[in-house]
Amino acid sequence: MTNGKITAEYIWLDGRKPTAKLRSKTKIINGPVRKLEDIPMWGFDGSSTEQADGHFSDCQLKPVYYIPDPISKGNNLLVMCEVLNADGTPHVTNTRHILAKVAEKFKDQEAWFGIEQEYTLYGKNDWPFGWPMGGYPSPQGRYYCGVGFDEVHGRPLVEAHLKACLEAGLAISGINAEVMPAQWEFQVGALGPLEVSDQLWLARWLLYRLGEDFNAYAKLDPKPMNGDWNGAGGHTNFSTRPMREQGGIEVVKQACEKLGKFAKQHIRVYGADNDKRLTGKHETCSYKDFRYGVSDRGASIRIPMETANKGRGYLEDRRPAANLDPYQICTALIETTCGEGFNPDKYGWGNFEFPEDKVVTAAPNVPLPLK
Ligand code: ADP
Ligand code: MN
Ligand code: MN
Ligand code: MN
Repeated sequence: MTNGKITAEYIWLDGRKPTAKLRSKTKIINGPVRKLEDIPMWGFDGSSTEQADGHFSDCQLKPVYYIPDPISKGNNLLVMCEVLNADGTPHVTNTRHILAKVAEKFKDQEAWFGIEQEYTLYGKNDWPFGWPMGGYPSPQGRYYCGVGFDEVHGRPLVEAHLKACLEAGLAISGINAEVMPAQWEFQVGALGPLEVSDQLWLARWLLYRLGEDFNAYAKLDPKPMNGDWNGAGGHTNFSTRPMREQGGIEVVKQACEKLGKFAKQHIRVYGADNDKRLTGKHETCSYKDFRYGVSDRGASIRIPMETANKGRGYLEDRRPAANLDPYQICTALIETTCGEGFNPDKYGWGNFEFPEDKVVTAAPNVPLPLK
């Protein structure tokens, strides 16, 4: 734009229940921006986003992270924001400010996260992209990492998204076609807790926004199609510095044991409708069970083969659903493995109620091949 003016797209999480969605609007500001403080606070009508009632509806937008806008280019920006109340206190839907505190408290642990975002592309008429309208493709088995017009659907959007993320400097580590046709995955990380979370939300925003140009939209529903079709997860790979150092496998093991003790608490923030996905089938462990094991894709927590062989590395929490809020997942993982344990009630969190009559059972763990 002219006169040093740029566009800043302010992006925030709304108050939708049980799963927050993204909202954004454009502000024309003076550029170029050199630091976060150059981006002004802004506001919005919270009564239109389920974040306030009509009588007292102003909410504030506090910029917390920004990247170059790979769509409108130039000096234009995408700006991730926290939502504050009119008096400047964090809004009840602001999960990020909790993670910011927890990340600061345990920063000496140097936690890293790599999040695998699975999603399903839908076309017009709310049916998976490329599927026969109102009908089904042949059974899954050939689509994962497939190539060809008969195997994968939506690659032009997927690749435009990857390119946009890379241009914006997001730490995308890979993409792949998934088991169910029209299902895809990208991975963000490994990064620290706030960075991975902000980047995941921004990568999601870019996916939705680019979908507008391709007549497709991404659904993060954990079980978009009933029947013998894989669900969509948000596997979260996690390590602390002691896990990555020599002998770290022992720390990984201790973390798994602790995660077993807080399985119920974690599941409550791992995504709405996750019980439809964590059935014990389709490469999942039931949400009622907790198991960890080396190379076990039917466990709650998988210890990658490489980590077991090297004796140090990371763990993969396979339970989070595609509709996860990374601010909550990272908080839970850090508090349980580095602190006293995670309690969603402390923050008024939980988008999935664990049925009281169900008990988490810890099945015998697969022994670690310790060398
Ligand atoms: P999968 O084999 O489960 O499909 P992916 O390759 O899709 O695994 O994703 C693995 C993720 O784990 C990547 O984002 C990667 O950056 C991340 N990762 C690798 N090492 C670590 C580590 N030490 N700590 C946290 N995350 C890690
Ligand atoms: Mn993966
Ligand atoms: Mn996957
Ligand atoms: Mn995985």
